[in-house]
Amino acid sequence: MSDGIRLHKTKGVNAHMTVCPRCGKDGDSIVLLGAEDKKYLCSECDAVNYGLSKGKCCNKCGSTCVSYLGIVEDYEKVPALCKVCEDELEALHNEVKKGGIFFRCTKCGSEGVIKGDADLAVATRLHTGIKAPKPVGIELNECPNCDEGGEE
Ligand SMILES: [Zn+2]
Ligand SMILES: [Zn+2]
Ligand SMILES: [Zn+2]
Repeated sequence: MSDGIRLHKTKGVNAHMTVCPRCGKDGDSIVLLGAEDKKYLCSECDAVNYGLSKGKCCNKCGSTCVSYLGIVEDYEKVPALCKVCEDELEALHNEVKKGGIFFRCTKCGSEGVIKGDADLAVATRLHTGIKAPKPVGIELNECPNCDEGGEE
């Protein structure tokens, strides 16, 4: 196969609907899993990897601590970024290239970008000595999203 898909013995290209892991909406694309229809959970970063063959590493963090979860069911949706989130993430990365910084909230788990002209971004860049366009990130104990009651 020129496109690199290993066909599934009975399911062929094995097309699956997608759901966006970022916003939770149904994706606007389909994913062809072919024979790569097994799910693996990474114990390091909790990412679910699809179609990993034996001995491979987590797609997200590169850890080899992945364990077999099961087969992707016929009508199961596969996580894939939707167009909106893809564009948003690209915009965030561009913001970081201009001096912004990534943040991750340890309280609610949300991730995002602090704009380059914000005091915290300027201070973090100064403190770490990492200049734009190189990415740098910090962990927050609390963020604006915490108040939106994400977990009740
Ligand atoms: Zn999305
Ligand atoms: Zn991982
Ligand atoms: Zn938060």
